[in-house]
Amino acid sequence: MSGPTGDLRITVDAAGLQRRIDELALISEAPAPVVTRVLFSEADQRGREYVRGAARDAGLALREDAVGNIFARWEGSEPGLPAVGSGSHTDAIPNAGRYDGVVGVLGAFEALAALRRAGFRPRRSLEVVMFTAEEPTRFGLGCLGSRLMAGTLPAARASALRDREGRSLDELRSAAGCTGSLESVRLAPGAYHSFIELHIEQGPVLEHKGIPIGIVERIAGPSSYRVTLHGEGGHAGAMLMPARHDALAAGAQIALAVERAASTSGSPDTVGTVGVFRVEPGAVNSVPFGAYLEIDLRDTRLDTRRRAYSRIRRAAAAACRRRGVRMEFEEINADPPAEGDPKTIESAERACARLGLASLRMVSRAYHDSLFMARVCPTTMVFIPCRNGWSHRPEEYASPAHIASGAEVLAHTMASLAA
Ligand SMILES: [Zn+2]
Repeated sequence: MSGPTGDLRITVDAAGLQRRIDELALISEAPAPVVTRVLFSEADQRGREYVRGAARDAGLALREDAVGNIFARWEGSEPGLPAVGSGSHTDAIPNAGRYDGVVGVLGAFEALAALRRAGFRPRRSLEVVMFTAEEPTRFGLGCLGSRLMAGTLPAARASALRDREGRSLDELRSAAGCTGSLESVRLAPGAYHSFIELHIEQGPVLEHKGIPIGIVERIAGPSSYRVTLHGEGGHAGAMLMPARHDALAAGAQIALAVERAASTSGSPDTVGTVGVFRVEPGAVNSVPFGAYLEIDLRDTRLDTRRRAYSRIRRAAAAACRRRGVRMEFEEINADPPAEGDPKTIESAERACARLGLASLRMVSRAYHDSLFMARVCPTTMVFIPCRNGWSHRPEEYASPAHIASGAEVLAHTMASLAA
């Protein structure tokens, strides 16, 4: 293979990488095999310290920003050029496993260490990012670090975030030792030449097809909404049917409208879910006077997601009008989908070909920090198989061989982009 990195002999230390993944898994709020590391918890803090140590062991220079994003850099021979980036997260939802996010941080450290052992000299700097709070556990909003870096979350809105105990992001980050203004987290234009995130697939496709590497060409855009319904309560026996303004019945129609709108949007990638549905007062002999729903609506296309959304709004308004129920419909969050960068995707595919690994172009149905990095630089993701597609549970598993292959693909791709 010709080209600037064609004769590189890269050997990833699969056993060493696995050992690190296992060591980080022991840093958890819950006993093994459960991994729980919620943003700025004591376990998250110790996890961050572990990440710093692993970066130093890989010979990387550390920097941190005001929200706790950790940057580990290998300076290139032309340090003024935009860097080639990689990275992911190490926070974990309650009752999670050891691979989600972690493979993309520790795997990137090992990719850079392997490049160094192979005698590679980067022209562009190579940088690994550990993003703060990819998971929405504490503040109800995921990808805090990457949103602030990309400038899609205004600093004032981030400062106003409160957790369930009423503590603000500013309070928690300063207790964790993060200093500086949230405005300063935003990346300078041209900070990155390109970005590649290594991650477990969190779905069953690669395992079913027996393909070791997925290369992401599109990331679905998530949106979520809260619906509060105000009906009229009453005695389930005494209140006759024509007199009713049943909040649950209106909510049930909305839930079915979500399902219908997602199924008939015109895109097979539209998915709509009502995952929260609470009823007041919640007594068998009482007509529900209140209902609260949360809707999750995602798509790889914005036009079909918008169409589904309009249909849900119209159906909800009609159901509430007919039943005499008052509705508040609020957007919690709506992010557009992201496209993978064709040239970065081709670099990853060439790396797979060089390594003799089959690859498959894929859609990421879960969102990742890459959804926001794609707003500021050419981006793609490298997926590896995980057993049964399981993720966000302690049984999450990816084989050491697949993890090592992912790190090799990452090393070759970053090397060719940085040469
Ligand atoms: Zn993740």
